[in-house]
Amino acid sequence: MRRARRKGTVYLVGAGPGDPSLITVRGHNLLRRAHVVVVDALAPPELLRLAPATAERVRIGGGGRRRLDQNAINRLLISRARRGLRVVRLKGGDPNIFGRVGEEAEALVRARIPFEIIPGVTAALGAAATTGIPLTHRLHASSVAFATAHVRAGKSPGTIDWKGLARADTVALYMGVRRLRSALRRIMAAGRSAATPAALVRWATRPEQQVIRGTLGTIAGKAERSGLVPPAILIAGEVAQLGTRLDWFARRPLAGLSIAVTRPRDQAAALTERLCEEGARVIVAPSITLQPPRSRAPLDRALRRLGRYRYLVLTSANGVERFFDRMKTLGIDLRALAGVGIVTIGPATADAVRARGLLVAAVPEEYRAEGLLRVMGKRRVNGARVLIARAEKARAILPDVLRRRGALVEVVPVYRAIASREGWPELLRAIREDDLDLLTFTSSATVSLFMAKLRGADRRKARRIPAAVIGPITARTARENGLRVTAMPREYTVEALATTIVRRLRNSPSGTLRGS
Ligand code: SAH
Repeated sequence: MRRARRKGTVYLVGAGPGDPSLITVRGHNLLRRAHVVVVDALAPPELLRLAPATAERVRIGGGGRRRLDQNAINRLLISRARRGLRVVRLKGGDPNIFGRVGEEAEALVRARIPFEIIPGVTAALGAAATTGIPLTHRLHASSVAFATAHVRAGKSPGTIDWKGLARADTVALYMGVRRLRSALRRIMAAGRSAATPAALVRWATRPEQQVIRGTLGTIAGKAERSGLVPPAILIAGEVAQLGTRLDWFARRPLAGLSIAVTRPRDQAAALTERLCEEGARVIVAPSITLQPPRSRAPLDRALRRLGRYRYLVLTSANGVERFFDRMKTLGIDLRALAGVGIVTIGPATADAVRARGLLVAAVPEEYRAEGLLRVMGKRRVNGARVLIARAEKARAILPDVLRRRGALVEVVPVYRAIASREGWPELLRAIREDDLDLLTFTSSATVSLFMAKLRGADRRKARRIPAAVIGPITARTARENGLRVTAMPREYTVEALATTIVRRLRNSPSGTLRGS
């Protein structure tokens, strides 16, 4: 028993076809607890973020990455499991469909390593869903075949049962892009009409999904003319012509558009999720990441004497989080805030305070420092001690005006925003290839840091891309940096920004927003 427990388990997990949210709940849970993740080129890269930061990540296959042969992969899985680690072997689609899971499982059995197989949504099912092509249909199709055009070296294509394949009502052909012409020729030679409807789906379920429709006779030519490269799956059969009317995926409001989100990742979720949900490809490239302030001493000093302040001003949800985390770390009870009026800028900041069971004395209607002053102005500020807890670098207007009204203001940094390079290569590529339809900014700082990272031609290109901003101050900074501000919500919140973007961009074909 003891010994068995010391051995790790290998989980052969289906990652789904491309959209990272299509992994199973079980697969998701296993990833979150993995010690080692070994991932294929076709598994959605976003899923790696679910694994703990400390987990070992091994990518195999795909451009420029480490190429391991099957034996090397088997050895890797076994060696890690022998060390008692929980290994997740993440495979695109379903592990049992052209996933070589059999070979890996065999090796694990031989090595007496416990393993489990967790299914996933295979590419054919993903493509069927997002093109609206039903694989079976009461009137048109009662059988479906999953086939591959790729055969092991040494095994000639003649050994594929093309006749049998041609008899299935619907055929889903994997790994067919490079051998498309010859595969189609064989299916037709086996008796399938050249007029049979067919669709070729590249990167099914991902926002960059491409669909080419035609017939067995025409589709190879169309694919060549459009320069289609793998991975793509072919769906052929009468059902393939039904897809055009059921094509919900391509009709989503932001389908086909690429949008950059420059907000720090932990806060970007609400914006990113909403835009993805509406069909956009979202590139998350935070301009900044949040770090502890250079010195915590001023904050700590203030926290130990909270009773002396009449007001505590918090200006962002981040500030709130870090302020209260620090209190907790120092062992300071929330009741130390008894009698201190909490004032927040913006509803998100207020919500973050309320989530801690505290009430907010004032939330200015306008989510800017000026709005705060208006609310505070009605209160007795003269002679009052005011603690402002916020980012290390922030505008001076708030403390200045409060001081002018006689307040005794103390400003303490609770976090520091520093430049981040995460997601930057992908964003830069999109800018260079004119493949970005919108930039989004949720603060002046992110605008400045974004522009500071661009040079020459890149900078000129970025200035041609429309920008959506959260509020007037960010808008001003964006314009000062030569950016084209085309959208700003009436209410300065991330939710309102997302809604404004959806309303503005709804069903614009990619590329049309740029230009003059
Ligand atoms: N186990 C995987 C298939 C691996 S074989 C599954 O169940 O889906 C690799 C082939 O799968 C590719 O050549 C392509 O034909 C197909 N494929 C995988 N992901 C795909 C996707 N997102 N869109 C289209 N085809 C895909």
